[in-house]
Amino acid sequence: MNLFSRIFKFIKLIAAMLILLTIVLVYRAINSTPDNSHVDKVSAIPLDYQQASKRLAGALRYRTISYQDPSLSEPQEFMGFQEYLRISFPLVHQTLSNEKVNSLSLLYRWKGQNKSTHSPILLMGHYDVVPVDPSTLDSWQHPPFKGVVAQNKIWGRGTLDDKSAVLAILESVEYLLSQGFVPNRDIYFAFGHDEEIGGKQGAKVIAEHFKQKNLKFEYVLDEGGFVTEGMMPGFDLPLTLIGVAEKGYLSAKLSVQSEGGHSSVPPPSTSIGIISNAIVSLENNQFEPRLVTATESMLTTIGRNMPFNKRLVFANLWLFKPFLIDQLKQSKLTNATIRTTTAATVFNAGEKENALPINASAIINFRLLPGDTIEMVEQHIKRVVNDDRVNVEILIAGNASPISSTESVAYQNIVNAIDKVSPEQGMVIVPNLMVGGTDSVHFLSIAENVYRFNGVKIEPESFSGFHGTNEYLAVSEYQRAINFYYQLLLTNQ
Ligand SMILES: [Zn+2]
Repeated sequence: MNLFSRIFKFIKLIAAMLILLTIVLVYRAINSTPDNSHVDKVSAIPLDYQQASKRLAGALRYRTISYQDPSLSEPQEFMGFQEYLRISFPLVHQTLSNEKVNSLSLLYRWKGQNKSTHSPILLMGHYDVVPVDPSTLDSWQHPPFKGVVAQNKIWGRGTLDDKSAVLAILESVEYLLSQGFVPNRDIYFAFGHDEEIGGKQGAKVIAEHFKQKNLKFEYVLDEGGFVTEGMMPGFDLPLTLIGVAEKGYLSAKLSVQSEGGHSSVPPPSTSIGIISNAIVSLENNQFEPRLVTATESMLTTIGRNMPFNKRLVFANLWLFKPFLIDQLKQSKLTNATIRTTTAATVFNAGEKENALPINASAIINFRLLPGDTIEMVEQHIKRVVNDDRVNVEILIAGNASPISSTESVAYQNIVNAIDKVSPEQGMVIVPNLMVGGTDSVHFLSIAENVYRFNGVKIEPESFSGFHGTNEYLAVSEYQRAINFYYQLLLTNQ
């Protein structure tokens, strides 16, 4: 064979491979179509939603604030809130057994007829809130603890996070009780009082109580995902995120001790320089990004609902994954879903402008992707800092949660319940990895699956209300939440 015919043969081979590749890509994209199964929409239960909104507003008036410094806590506000629930939901408190855990967290048991062999379920929420930064008070349209219903919105600290979930659950149960409903299996409700500072006195103790009784749940539903719209650039359909996993957490304290003395005769690097170097190294050597199954299955579901050119990418992640990851790295929000993140959050050093610092320390907060372990992060810090003068101490650490199933009956029940009560047509419902933490982390070992979802729609502009200023929830969204829990409780026979 001469040279030209060999080259020609080679070109033919390449052309054939390209044609084959195109066929595979297009074939996969054509077959990647939206899930057209849909549920019939239902009408809302006949509640007076203005009254229900006022009940939620009333609950916002209790300053149930979780402070990092426990001496600032006001237990009478928590007791007041409990009493308020007792008066506002009389049937719940007459019918369900209820107890206080560590005085301030609340646990209810709705006894089923036990016609069902299913394990019990647990719905959760928390009624503590984060403090309000006093310098922001003037920016609140309505004072954060006034509990106001105005412009068809409920205003105040805790409307989104997370008193609306607690009150919406109780509204739905109160209504079911008024209709004479009795569940087939036992249903539990747990409302923590210290989620914002880790849930150690509340949810954790409740979980231990269940462990002692050897109780296992088919699933736990806690706060987390939302219905969204317009949050993802280039995707216009309403998008509902159901949290199937949450990232882990690790805070490491780096410290350096060096000789003090007069700053007129300094060493080449002071303790401040050494620790700064360590921080810069950690920032410059981030964890490698990757798609975990929860994120991949979210993206492929979203992709199926996109125009053909974009579907081509999402249906062929086997080929395009590196390009997609590159894209996801560009925004803070999506970057956090594809890697263990690194954030220097605290820095302490130096006493006097003309004295050499003796102690310097910094805290670095990592959020662990499922699959990255505490040990891996510890090794990463030591390898990247690579300086014997820097002491590393792990202050607090927890691995990421397992990823809950999207094939379970429970997941499907949650999907159906939110679809049924939502006015939006063509809502795309996807599993997602939560970058923040919830109280449900304490229940991982006693629940087959843990899901995180709030049953309300969040507009992009109201996101700043979370732990921020002007927290509010539309009355129509509160109605959606009540109906979501109602439908979910009905289907858990
Ligand atoms: Zn919360």
